Amino acid sequence: MTDPDLRARLFRFVDTFPALAGPADVVEHLRGEFAGAAAPWWLRAGLALGDVPGGRRVTTAVARRSIDRMARQFVIGTEPEEVAEAVGGMWASGSAATVDLLGEHTHSDAEAARYATRLAALVDALGAASNRWAPRPVLEHDDIGPVPRASVSVKVSALSPVLHPLTAGRGVEQAQTLLLPILERAAALGVSVWFDMERYEEKALTQALFRRLLERPELDMLHGGIVLQGYLRDAADDLEALARWATGRRIPPAVRLVKGAYWDTETVEAAARGWDPPVHLDKGATDAAFEELADALHSYHGTLRAAFATHNLRSLAAAVVDGRRRAVPDTGYELQLLYGMAEPVHVAVRQAGFRLRVYAPMGELIPGMAYLVRRLLENTANESFVRHRFAEGESLDKLLAPPMPAKAPGRGPETNGHRRPHPGDLAPYRPEPPAQWHLPAVIEEIAMAVEAEFGRAPRQVRASRGSAGLALSSVDPADPEVVVAHAAVCDEASVHAMVDAAAAASGAWRARPMAERAAVLLRAAAALRARRAELLALVVREVGKPWADADAEVCEAVDYCEYYARRALELDAGGAVQSPPGEDNLLRYRGRGVCAVIAPWNFPLAIPLGMTAAALVTGNTVVLKPAEQSPAVAGELVRILLESGLPEDVLQLAPGAGETGAALVDHPAVDVIAFTGSREVGLAIVERAGRRDDRRGSVVRVVAEMGGKNAVVVDDDADLDQVVPAVVASAFGFAGQKCSAASRLVLTDRIHDAALERVTEAVRALVVGPPRRPDTQVGPVIDAEAHARLTGALQRASSVGTVQLARHDLPEVGWFVGPTVVTDVDPTSWLATDELFGPVLAVFGVPDFAAGLRLADDSPYALTAGVFTRSAHHVRMAAEVLHAGNLYVNRAITGAVVGRQPFGGNRLSGVGSKAGGPDYLLQFCDPQVVSENTVRQGFAATVHHTPTR
Ligand code: NAD
Repeated sequence: MTDPDLRARLFRFVDTFPALAGPADVVEHLRGEFAGAAAPWWLRAGLALGDVPGGRRVTTAVARRSIDRMARQFVIGTEPEEVAEAVGGMWASGSAATVDLLGEHTHSDAEAARYATRLAALVDALGAASNRWAPRPVLEHDDIGPVPRASVSVKVSALSPVLHPLTAGRGVEQAQTLLLPILERAAALGVSVWFDMERYEEKALTQALFRRLLERPELDMLHGGIVLQGYLRDAADDLEALARWATGRRIPPAVRLVKGAYWDTETVEAAARGWDPPVHLDKGATDAAFEELADALHSYHGTLRAAFATHNLRSLAAAVVDGRRRAVPDTGYELQLLYGMAEPVHVAVRQAGFRLRVYAPMGELIPGMAYLVRRLLENTANESFVRHRFAEGESLDKLLAPPMPAKAPGRGPETNGHRRPHPGDLAPYRPEPPAQWHLPAVIEEIAMAVEAEFGRAPRQVRASRGSAGLALSSVDPADPEVVVAHAAVCDEASVHAMVDAAAAASGAWRARPMAERAAVLLRAAAALRARRAELLALVVREVGKPWADADAEVCEAVDYCEYYARRALELDAGGAVQSPPGEDNLLRYRGRGVCAVIAPWNFPLAIPLGMTAAALVTGNTVVLKPAEQSPAVAGELVRILLESGLPEDVLQLAPGAGETGAALVDHPAVDVIAFTGSREVGLAIVERAGRRDDRRGSVVRVVAEMGGKNAVVVDDDADLDQVVPAVVASAFGFAGQKCSAASRLVLTDRIHDAALERVTEAVRALVVGPPRRPDTQVGPVIDAEAHARLTGALQRASSVGTVQLARHDLPEVGWFVGPTVVTDVDPTSWLATDELFGPVLAVFGVPDFAAGLRLADDSPYALTAGVFTRSAHHVRMAAEVLHAGNLYVNRAITGAVVGRQPFGGNRLSGVGSKAGGPDYLLQFCDPQVVSENTVRQGFAATVHHTPTR
């Protein structure tokens, strides 16, 4: 406990332990986890023992015994009756309890129902047992009235797989349906129910559910409680709102004030997404807030029932002192402590005559311990009173000193990614923060924009040159009768006219200073930000992308502009070459000339914008051919770039179908082709561009990003709580129409059945519907052709595998394809090898991880791949074996962020260096080295004549 590094490693090991099978596995993980750590002698001895015959078994037995002992310390029991008995024993010795069910995260309706069943059994067992307990006046009365003897604590997120801000309506409804009968039982049996508070994102939903349920007349007599997390900066507002709501209620609701157990998650997530963290950033501020909130909570005595839950004696004492000052009797509230932790504090609280309630987790011992450790792990960074006092033996005086909030206010808006940089004074690149859906104002703004967009008359998207008629229509894939845009179809003549104009404009544009071109991108980024909601809505409508995915796409578009602008300025400073005395060498990068950008529909904003921005900023002129399915988005992005200060003819739009793209590829004045799309078209372009044509002025460079058949390999020791949501999001996000989507899932035999069942059930719970609605998780596929192709494939799927799940509960209108999971897929079949580009997941069983990697890599594609493993050795092995351009470990395989996960594939998935990465711009440049002799008549002049950079 005193060594933070060792503690973290031990926790990680305990977390993995339930997933390990044999002694060899245990020893390998111990070694992986403790290699290079300053492990204590007994651990080192155990690891050495692993080498002697039978030694592995000994080491494993020791590990199991230790974890078992630890579990018995912190987990009260496994079965409801056993738990009820243990709680009865605690009651006899003077402590009340509230029991919390440990268990897996909920990703399916089946898991939610299972949790509800366990909860109901627990309520019944506690209710029945508590009748038999001897009277304990302190524990069952306060100055307001009777207090139930028994109590449970509920994790609301366990009651619905869709309890998230965008799916709030459904999530709250589902949790309510499951909870209502349980709460009725609890009210009848005299069991109190606390609603635990988890992550900030779900806070408002938990509060809403709590109120909705308690307002029901049949729950009039329920003793309900809710948690208030002191580390949240908006906790005081929440408390006030709660007190207002509770005024006049027959049974005052209880509020358990805690500090909060998700500090690491909240701060890490906020930092990664560029959000202001919702929590106080230092422990002193949290402790101070706790004391203020404790006092405020006492001030509502009678309206609310207070409970103070912390192991920090100073915080507990502050709550007691404030209570006395406000003349609340000592039994007018309760103090809560964790089961098995800091026992001397339990004794002291009881002896001082307070009502002590112990928060007691229940579950299977070894897996239960793992779940518990996961929660403890959350909190290791937050300094702990228990550790200071009991492990490090710090003096009481020091520990009882008043909390001292740090002076610095922490991350303000300045560092929050919103600063508008300008050339010469550029803040470091920071990805655009995604929408905070848990803020009501954010959802409202997007909802308004979406409704406005869906009410709009068709747009008209014209070509930059020529008089091509508006012969093309894009439609709403969820309602194909509705036209989103009428667009031009450029013929060969108009394409040629555009390329000629682009060629003519090229010299002047290339001669502009790089900083000037970078400034165009920065202005475009600002315009994209300003029109964020409107662009998001257009993406939702024209290609049927769900809100959160569309939001991520607008962010990505902003990121390309911000990132490439900075990268261009770095390139402008010249390459790394040496200049000896008397010689000045400069490696500079210049635009190649005319760039043809040919884009797909699946990222209709970010992908064409990224390719176009890279070409423009390096000094190329661009003719953009967007996908025929998404001309309206392309029209907007071209407008934004032009309005950001591009001279005439530097960027031109050539809407049309494949023939328009082909005409562009064939024009001899094109110097670079930036293509993203299917393998068929990509390879055809590479071939056409490589053909000899004596009219061409340069060897055409083709940057082609193509398809994938991306696999996720799940190891024996993987954490299925992590696997299930990541795989489902990767395979079915945007209906499987991301190039990075997971379309193959490879499971080792040991976890095959458990993983398959959980994934399948999670797919069953996905909300399929029109993307216009915020709660849609899977929308339609792009067009009639894709719909026909996919439905045909699904009809044939049973000839090459077993259809485990095929969703048929689809909207009647629109190109919907039901999310489908196919198992036992023949690895040589089309389902295993062809990119289907839809909501279809093929599942394979393999004996072990190594075989899984071989299967995953056996593909002509190599775009993205994922592995789930907790073995350090296996992570290295995966990176070695897999050729994928982007390999993700223990996370989703979609959602690459510019500047963090430069994106692009190998083999037949792509040629060129990665989009959103440091090398990308080089592909649009001709490098030039200028070497000048600076010695004149023996005199080493210091005057440089090298060209402007
Ligand atoms: P697509 O290949 O059908 O079309 C892409 C673009 O090429 C469109 O603008 C199309 O009109 C144009 N085109 C078609 N025929 C042409 C021809 N003969 N000459 C020139 N241009 C032609 O692809 P799509 O359906 O729009 O997009 C889906 C595909 O894109 C999937 O295979 C997906 O994996 C891939 N993709 C790859 C990435 C990546 O970064 N690797 C990103 C997104 C999409």
